[in-house]
Amino acid sequence: MSQTSAAAPKTYGWCPGALRPMMSGDGLVVRIRPPLGRLSAEQAKAVAALSEGFGNGLLDISSRANLQLRGVTEDQHAALIAALQDLGLVDTDIDTEARRNVLVAPFWSSGDDTHLLAQRLARALVQAADLSLPGKFGFAVDTGPVPVLRDTAADIRIERNHHGLVLVADGAETGRRVTIDTAVEDAISLARWFLDQGGAPDGRGRMRPFIARRAVPPAHDTPLGAPAPQQGLGPVATGTLVGLEFGQIPAHSFAALAAHGALRLTPWRMLLVENAYDLSPLPGVILDPADARLRVIACTGAPGCTQALGPTRDLARDLAPHVPLGSCLHVSGCTKACACPGTAPLTLVATGPDEFNLIQGGTTTDRPTLTHLSTRHLRVAPDLLTKGS
Ligand code: SF4
Repeated sequence: MSQTSAAAPKTYGWCPGALRPMMSGDGLVVRIRPPLGRLSAEQAKAVAALSEGFGNGLLDISSRANLQLRGVTEDQHAALIAALQDLGLVDTDIDTEARRNVLVAPFWSSGDDTHLLAQRLARALVQAADLSLPGKFGFAVDTGPVPVLRDTAADIRIERNHHGLVLVADGAETGRRVTIDTAVEDAISLARWFLDQGGAPDGRGRMRPFIARRAVPPAHDTPLGAPAPQQGLGPVATGTLVGLEFGQIPAHSFAALAAHGALRLTPWRMLLVENAYDLSPLPGVILDPADARLRVIACTGAPGCTQALGPTRDLARDLAPHVPLGSCLHVSGCTKACACPGTAPLTLVATGPDEFNLIQGGTTTDRPTLTHLSTRHLRVAPDLLTKGS
């Protein structure tokens, strides 16, 4: 069967932030990058109150561990930004906000390498006013015993192998040996090398496809460490990881979690609640690692996203119990695949208001196994998802 054609989703070429928010179907999406990916308990409670006061009371965690307030009206944006700046959560200008794109592995402890390097790298990026990187270009600081962010998009990574710290250009199979004192400077140099070598013609480009087209940078000959298996819910050394249904949480649940401690953002649709080991159920919060909702991923879809060709989350919720253990279903409102850019065992992509393509073992743009599936059809016969796979 051939893929049903649908209007190509729009690509903006810039990354929305707090100072330059994106308009969505339910108002402005205001995306904040808390320093170190952490909100103190007081900051988290205040952000929850701002979400209810200025937005629609829903908060998202993005796949790069940013926090998004949804449903903000244009006339209230300035007041919201002023309140977020008072909390120390927004940069001074759009360029600085875009440049300070640092994803931090959430398991750091105060004073360890990840903590120190993330702070130093953020400071260096703020100061590097001449560094004009593409909008989505980002860094990852991931220097725990084993890398945990390898599956998360980042163009330049600082990791660890069994000898020490390694600087990695995304897509390369080897990296450059660095130290706690040289890692940040070398990371900025690697970003400049990418630009100097023509990695971002017209201001666009990412490291991975660039590396695929050419050799790795000079002196990047150190083997990388093996990555950690996928992170699950539950207690960790610094607190407890809880899941969020579709990466979204009602503001009142966010505040209730913050009553237990500071909150760290992760790129896995999970929050780490610092020093909390006894959490009670809350709306939108998943505590049970066997919860079927952990086996589905769905973007905002219609009506929250203006580009969506159909709704996504109600269908994903209903199909979740039918997704086999160990598998995953991605429901996408269009081919842009915001919630899951890579391959998924099962993908449903909307091609109309009540019409989906099914792709098995591929991405939203791969050849579908079945087309023209209605939501009723899928709900009545969910075994269609896995037939023939
Ligand atoms: S993938 Fe989903 S959220 Fe992204 S543009 Fe398409 S419909 Fe919108």
